[in-house]
Amino acid sequence: MHHVPEEWREERSIRGEEDFVTPWQGEEVLFQGNDGVSGTSKQDEEKMTAEGNAELKHRAARGMDQLDKESLMMELTRLVQKTVKSSSWWERRGVDITILGLAFLLLPPAFLLLRSSQTLVCVLGIGLMGVSHAVITVKGTHLASHGSLSESPAWAEIWAVFFIEVCGSFTAKAGVSGHVKLHHAHTNVVGLGDSSTWKIPCLPRTVYLFIAPLAVPVITPLVALGQLKEQPVGPALRTALMVCLGFYSQFWLLIHVSGFQCPYRTLLCMLICRAMFSLPFIHVNIFQHIGLPMFSPTRRPKRIYQMTHGVLNLPRNPLLDWTFGHSLINCHVEHHLFPFLSDNMCLKVKPIVSQFLKEKNLPYQEDTYCSRLRLFYHKYQELMVFAPPITELVGEQ
Ligand SMILES: [Zn+2]
Repeated sequence: MHHVPEEWREERSIRGEEDFVTPWQGEEVLFQGNDGVSGTSKQDEEKMTAEGNAELKHRAARGMDQLDKESLMMELTRLVQKTVKSSSWWERRGVDITILGLAFLLLPPAFLLLRSSQTLVCVLGIGLMGVSHAVITVKGTHLASHGSLSESPAWAEIWAVFFIEVCGSFTAKAGVSGHVKLHHAHTNVVGLGDSSTWKIPCLPRTVYLFIAPLAVPVITPLVALGQLKEQPVGPALRTALMVCLGFYSQFWLLIHVSGFQCPYRTLLCMLICRAMFSLPFIHVNIFQHIGLPMFSPTRRPKRIYQMTHGVLNLPRNPLLDWTFGHSLINCHVEHHLFPFLSDNMCLKVKPIVSQFLKEKNLPYQEDTYCSRLRLFYHKYQELMVFAPPITELVGEQ
C-alpha cells in the first residue's frame, strides 16, 4: 500500500542519483587542467586551448544548468508542501470524503425511484444510481488505491478493499500495484507504465471508442477472477467473497427494495447503471497519456520532465469533476507530480503548479475532451495499434 509520500523525500532521492551535480562542481570543471596540450605547436596549442576552454565552459554551464533543473522538483515540492501544511483536514480529506458520502446517500432514493411504474421516474432512478456508482467506483477506488482517504495505514487498507473489491469488483492488490506501483512510478515508460493495457489493437476504432467500453462492468470482474490464480488462497478467497458481496447486495436490493421480479431485468438494470460512465472512463484513461512522449526504461528523464511531458490535463467539467475527481480530469498533471494528494488538494495546488511550470518553461499540457476524441478517432492506428515511438528529452536530463 502506498502510504508514505515519496515526493516529500525528493530532495534525498535526487541527491542519491549518480549524476547529481553538487553546487561546487560547476565551478570545479572550469578550473580543471588542460591535459594533452603539451608537446604541440603554439598554434595547435592555442587552438586546442580555445577548444578545451569552450568544452570546459560548456561542461560547466551544463553542470550549473543541471543543478538548476535537479532542484526544480524540490522547489515545486516545497511550494506544494507549504500549501498542504497550511490546509485544514476539511480541505485535505473532508471535501472528498463528503462527496463519497453523498454518493452513498443517493442510493436509497435511487432504489426507491426504481419501484415506480412510470418510465421517467425509473429513468431518474437509473440515472441517480449510475452517477452514484461512478463516484464510488472511479473517484472512490482511485483515492483508495492511493491511500488518500485516511492517514491510518490500517484504515487505508480497509478502504482499498471496500472500494476496489466490494464496489469496483476488482482485486485491491492488483489495482494498487497496477495503478500506483506501475502506472504512477513508470508513467509513459515503454513496457512498464505505457498505458498499453488499455490498447486492444484488434478492435476497429468505432468499436473500441464507442461500443467496447460498455462491456467494462462485465470484463472487470472476469479480469479480477483471472488474477486470483496468482494470489495466495487467503487473499484470493477474500477478493472473491468481496466481489460477490458487492454484486449480490445490489441484486438483492433491486429485488427487495425496488421490487424487481425478473432476474434478467435486474441484471440488465445493474449493467446499465454500471456502464453509464464507461465510455468517458476509457476515454479519459487513454486521452491523458497515449500520444504524448514515451520514454525508454534505460534512459528515462528526471521525474519533473517525465510527468510534465507525459501527462495531460482536460478542462474542468462539472459532471466528470464530481464523478471521476479532479485528479483524473483537470488536475492529472498535479496528481502525477503529487499522487498522494486528494482531489480537492490537487485543485488547490493547481495554480501553484501551473504557474511554476510555465515560469520554468516546462510544458503544462492541456487539451479539450472533444479535441482528444477527434485526435484518437483520426489517428487510431498510430496511437492505439502501433508501438509508440520513444522520446529522448535531449539536453533536458
Ligand atoms: Zn492515480
